[in-house]
Amino acid sequence: MLNLVIFGAPGSGKGTQSERLIDEYGLYHISTGEVLRKHISDGTELGKLADSYISKGQLIPDELMIEILADILENNPEAEKGIIFDGFPRTIAQAEALNKLLQKHGSEVTAVLGLEVDDDELIDRLVKRGKDSGRSDDNPETIKKRLDVYHSTTSPLREFYQKVGTYHPIKGTGSVEDIFEDIKSRVNSVKEK
Ligand code: ATP
Ligand code: MG
Repeated sequence: MLNLVIFGAPGSGKGTQSERLIDEYGLYHISTGEVLRKHISDGTELGKLADSYISKGQLIPDELMIEILADILENNPEAEKGIIFDGFPRTIAQAEALNKLLQKHGSEVTAVLGLEVDDDELIDRLVKRGKDSGRSDDNPETIKKRLDVYHSTTSPLREFYQKVGTYHPIKGTGSVEDIFEDIKSRVNSVKEK
């Protein structure tokens, strides 16, 4: 089972590259951001709670986020073909929970693809996206907060995955196609093992 984590700061291109990975490898896509935004647009209780964090640029608490993810894994048998995790894990606690959940299915994280983009470029992309995304978190103030949270809480995961040898740094600037070619060569090299 090929389980990929697409990793990187907000605006690093996780969603864009995920779409291509799904087509190329037939993976099941789990975007926690999309799952939460669906709850918000459906007006569910969970959506209201999620929005109170998202609109401030904060992370949803680990306990809740892990519960949501475990639920998706249990209720989607088609995920057995392999998964692309987009936006999860974002904390060490989430990464540890993911290891445990995959172990239960006799599986593991195959590779973590880290899209590396500097902050100036990220801010530029997110401000542009904010002009038509309609997302409550794509405004300059919230963008700054999200980047702070990324650096303090999420980026330590690079070291977490480096230690176990699954982290692959990818230059996240340049054309979408060139970045994807780079990702593909990484994925193909781990697949052959
Ligand atoms: P990208 O633009 O690279 O796709 P992003 O950070 O803009 O990334 P999402 O991944 O869609 O967007 O996440 C949006 C928001 O949803 C986050 O800022 C956070 O509040 C919440 N969220 C998503 N995933 C998680 C998670 N694993 N843990 C906690 N909160 C999460
Ligand atoms: Mg996204």
